[in-house]
Amino acid sequence: MSSRTVSRRALLQGALVTVAFNPMTRSWASTMETGAVPLPRLDGELRMDTESRAAATEDFGHIRHRMPWAVLIPGSVQDIVAMVRFARHQGLKIAGARGLGESHSTFGQSQVEAGIVIDMSALSSIHEIGEDSAWVDAGVRWHELLQATTPRGRSPPVLTDYIELSIGGTLSAGGIGGQAFRWGLQVDNVMEMDVVTGQGELVRCSRTHERPLFDAVRSGLGQFGIIVRARVRLVEVPPRARTYTARYNDLHRFMEDQRRLIEDGRFDYVEGSAVASNGGWAYQLEVVKYFAPGAEPHDARLLTGLGFEPATLQVSDGSYFDFANRLAPLIEFLKQLGVWGFPHPWLDMFVPARAAESFVQEVLSQTTEADMGQGPILLYPFRASELTTPFLRTPDDRHIFLFSMLRTAIPPTPENVAALVQKNRAIFDRLTACGGKIYPVDAVPFTAADWRRHFHPDWERFEHAKRRHDPDHILTPGQGIF
Ligand SMILES: Cc1cc2nc3c(=O)[nH]c(=O)nc-3n(C[C@H](O)[C@H](O)[C@H](O)COP(=O)(O)OP(=O)(O)OC[C@H]3O[C@@H](n4cnc5c(N)ncnc54)[C@H](O)[C@@H]3O)c2cc1C
Repeated sequence: MSSRTVSRRALLQGALVTVAFNPMTRSWASTMETGAVPLPRLDGELRMDTESRAAATEDFGHIRHRMPWAVLIPGSVQDIVAMVRFARHQGLKIAGARGLGESHSTFGQSQVEAGIVIDMSALSSIHEIGEDSAWVDAGVRWHELLQATTPRGRSPPVLTDYIELSIGGTLSAGGIGGQAFRWGLQVDNVMEMDVVTGQGELVRCSRTHERPLFDAVRSGLGQFGIIVRARVRLVEVPPRARTYTARYNDLHRFMEDQRRLIEDGRFDYVEGSAVASNGGWAYQLEVVKYFAPGAEPHDARLLTGLGFEPATLQVSDGSYFDFANRLAPLIEFLKQLGVWGFPHPWLDMFVPARAAESFVQEVLSQTTEADMGQGPILLYPFRASELTTPFLRTPDDRHIFLFSMLRTAIPPTPENVAALVQKNRAIFDRLTACGGKIYPVDAVPFTAADWRRHFHPDWERFEHAKRRHDPDHILTPGQGIF
């Protein structure tokens, strides 16, 4: 920023029209300055103070840090339209993010160097809840939506494990959880969206209207537009959830059982994980059946034919909401310990079922507990037949496993973080060799060639969508795709 930076005080006093951008010096300026271009009138505010800008250099990963020139706290959708148009004309970059210091990216995806970050959490109203859908601002968290829908016996059909994520953020990525085998991902369950494109146009899109934009934006990694509102599907849910967890020592049997469960559909949720055991790894199945009071699940029938270690079975009941929000107590505890604020070099992979057992076996044999810093390793399958989103890249197989190594860097030193990121890259290369795909929300250094390979054979379609919706490449540079 130049020393001519307009003070925050002046901004807060409502003097926004006197604030401008000087394209020659590429810095904020006063409108008195020769050649300075006035900022658009805003309902919200554009913060240029160091504190706000510094908050936008942080994300959940704490690995990459890029300093924006300003943070837009939009007071309306029109503010986003105005700022995108302004940025486009001035050659500034823009990224939408969940909220100052609250970004859930792990590798700077929502950051922008010398550009503008839009704090989407400023627009977080739930506009309408109906029988089969809700119309919400993109800055709403899934948690907030669920709080509003569960008293009506309704829920989005698929939820992420952690429900503090923003609706716009998971729709730009995918949004996977233990119900995905039945419903697909969250991107497969969005019905309509309002999007501000990189050209600064506000466009409503759906499967029947402006379909190319609808298909581009879902899992589009913020490349084509900023999602400002979404109509998300709701389904009826019983108020109670019974959770079963049990251990396997045999990876083959564990994966076979998981695949069987997602095909026969006897449970409503199927996940699992690898857990450290006697210096090696065991496997934990986690399955859930929803029910109404008085219609208790039949445990023996549900568990029949499964090969877990019987003595490890645990069964617990709770409300549907508490099940969906099950990570909240753990995360509160991690926050108290300070570990939640450590770097998180995460690695999320989609592995074709045909190669999953050998790949997982190989990766785990080279992974120590120290490599994970007590972070979980998720392992569960879903069905390709439920996927409808072109830019969500998954391997070509009937069943696909999510294999997520959710590392915490302990100790949180730059050397340890760098070593873990390097391990991620090495595993990613092996993943690619066995036909797998990355779930691109994680901490893996990607080159332009990697992105081309990632979107193959649809790279040209991706590029074409960029030319059409964000021809000046102003949106979401933190992904490093273009
Ligand atoms: C603790 C934790 C748990 C997670 N659990 C799961 C899980 O169970 N399942 C799963 O699928 N994913 C999970 N994720 C990954 C998560 O879905 C993605 O990181 C998602 O993009 C986060 O969105 P956000 O808005 O909350 O974060 P942000 O960091 O603010 O945004 C992330 C990305 O989305 C883009 N973006 C944000 N808002 C918009 C918008 N309105 N329009 C267009 N682009 C936008 C940003 O530009 C950025 O590239 C988890 C992440 C964390 C940190």
